Amino acid sequence: MSKSKKILLSIVAILTVGFLVPERITIPVVGASRNDWNQESFWFEPWGSSGVHKGIDIFGKMGTGVVSTTDGIVLYAGQVAKGGNVVVVLGPKWRVHYFAHLDAINTSMLSLVGSGELIGTVGDSGNSKGKPPHLHYSIVRLIPVPWAMDGATQGYKKAVFIDPNRYLGG
Ligand SMILES: [Zn+2]
Repeated sequence: MSKSKKILLSIVAILTVGFLVPERITIPVVGASRNDWNQESFWFEPWGSSGVHKGIDIFGKMGTGVVSTTDGIVLYAGQVAKGGNVVVVLGPKWRVHYFAHLDAINTSMLSLVGSGELIGTVGDSGNSKGKPPHLHYSIVRLIPVPWAMDGATQGYKKAVFIDPNRYLGG
């Protein structure tokens, strides 16, 4: 077998393993239920500079625990302009989970986290300053699925953005 074929096979094997790891899913705000977010808010428009809202906002008291929705590895924990204090977790199935507007961050880059493990607290950082504290939660596929695209505004981006309502058991 040629070297490039071996490399290709290893990549396919790694990608496949990612899909085989089971997802264990937890609602990411401690004590929250499905009533703590608006199920219509995914892809709501107009939505500021983003155009459409590519996630859900789960409301809670300032400082309430934010836990990872999935087992995974922390790809990023730090500050970004819009999201404020954010944590980014790579979970099974090559899905990236984005937790934004945190008050405190309670994890660090490259940490392994379990589903339900504390990663931060609810806040109003980034472009949520002055708004009711909430967790913004988005899920992004690293491997796009073109059949999820639709005719909505920016609907082609649904190839990568997953509806968190469905993910969280809606
Ligand atoms: Zn949001």
